[in-house]
Amino acid sequence: MNYTDLSAFEISQKVRSGEIKAVEMVEAALAQIAAVDGVQGQLDYKGQDPAQDDKVHAFISLTSDLARSQAAEVDRKVAEGDDPGLLAGVPLSVKDIFCVEHTHTTAASRMLANFEPPYTATAVNRLTQAGALLVGKTNLDEFTYGSSSESSAFQPCPYNPWNPKYAAGGSSGGSAAAVAARETPLSLGTDTGGSIRQPSAFCGVVGLKPTYSRVSRYGLIAFASSFDCPGPITRDVRDAALMLQAIAGSDPQDSTSSTVAPSDYRSALEQDVRGLRIGLSPDYGHISYPDTETGEISYQAIQREVSQAVFNAAEALARAGAEIIENVPMPNSRFGIPAYFVISRVEAASNLHRFDGVKYGFRTTHPFNDLSELYRLSRAEGFGVQPKLRILMGMYVSAAQHAANYYQRALKVRAMIRKDLTDAFNPKGAYRLDALLTPTTPTTAFKRNDVFGNTVLMQYSDQMTVCANHAGMPAITIPGGLDQAGLPIGIQFIANDFREDLLFRAGRAFETATASAAWRAIKPIVLSNQQVIS
Ligand code: GLN
Repeated sequence: MNYTDLSAFEISQKVRSGEIKAVEMVEAALAQIAAVDGVQGQLDYKGQDPAQDDKVHAFISLTSDLARSQAAEVDRKVAEGDDPGLLAGVPLSVKDIFCVEHTHTTAASRMLANFEPPYTATAVNRLTQAGALLVGKTNLDEFTYGSSSESSAFQPCPYNPWNPKYAAGGSSGGSAAAVAARETPLSLGTDTGGSIRQPSAFCGVVGLKPTYSRVSRYGLIAFASSFDCPGPITRDVRDAALMLQAIAGSDPQDSTSSTVAPSDYRSALEQDVRGLRIGLSPDYGHISYPDTETGEISYQAIQREVSQAVFNAAEALARAGAEIIENVPMPNSRFGIPAYFVISRVEAASNLHRFDGVKYGFRTTHPFNDLSELYRLSRAEGFGVQPKLRILMGMYVSAAQHAANYYQRALKVRAMIRKDLTDAFNPKGAYRLDALLTPTTPTTAFKRNDVFGNTVLMQYSDQMTVCANHAGMPAITIPGGLDQAGLPIGIQFIANDFREDLLFRAGRAFETATASAAWRAIKPIVLSNQQVIS
């Protein structure tokens, strides 16, 4: 039995029944990490070792001792007949943006390189209480600002397990890469504009952005507080449902967490898609971006293989009994990126105020004359380019003289985007959708260094994901095939508030319908001995 090929569901069954031990699972995960991960991300990395070129670099730090003691506790419970939890013995990695007591939590920034939080994020606590074993913290874009994980202050950044010359996506790139490379079957990511779904699509894994407020944000280092959602990254839909079951639910530590009771996601998996109404929208067939000089909107068709994968998925779902509703209008989706650009920067700038060289985090070692110089030097030296850009942008668009033109207007656009979706899901409306089926990304993974530095292009890789963030609605990405270059394609389902159950039903039906597809048998290149093709 190859332990690292087991799903979280299978592992928890086998650990509960005593067939395998949690301590064996930890060692299997750590051995896999040792085999494929290479050096972990670090500050001021100068390495030039070609042996690192085909490694994954998913992690910033490992928490092997913690995982071993958690495993011993799970095995003790199994031996004594206590309930070891829903995720008993399942190795877990966590994006290094979640606070975990007694471990470094860096946000992939020099600013927090030595930060040891005094408490643990609720989502992480719930996972380990359910029996998951925390083996390490994964790399990401600095403060989650990006779509390739390349902006991490900790290098090397994650490489794509399907071809390490390509980006793993971001910002949860380390988490998606760790799951694809069989390092951990579960990873906890965050999604503000697409950061769970875009890297999951690039790495050929399942990624779920839950409804906003479904999962507590307590202990999550904030990017844009009205968008941020913790969520699962897994290899299949069933594991995503299990993981959401463990983390969903209200939290007294987060007053914005919803008190709506979580559904029984596991039983949703048992239902098929007969009678479900699944929509397709022509507005998801292209990306649209304004000319930076004239403001005029240009359109560019998405990668043909990606749109083909969406049509193939629609056909497979139709054969499984779903009703496909074509031509559902989403006219405001083209404004998703500009509106997100404005609102997310305002919230980011506000959230970054606390990193001032005084309260916690990095402090300049240079001499300073007064408090404001201490602030200036610490922030200038501690933050990388992305936080600085976002502070500048956020302060500008929310300044008294500009707010009406930018921030206030973007908030109105956000409401219009949500209305497109609520209209489509309205049970008394013209479309009465249960879910909308779209591509997850306009293209498959881009090469590392190709898009980095081009903030506009980087932003548009989120055009298909960002509207669910504006609306606060849940969305899932599921592997839907491979392109000519052998890179994974993601398809996305979006559903109405708190209807993650419908995403699991549609996603699982698609997995079942394509269980014997040839592309499903192909594994990421880092798992084979094949030479990497450029
Ligand atoms: N790529 C987007 C950004 O840079 C989204 C990132 C995220 O979801 N955290 O803002």
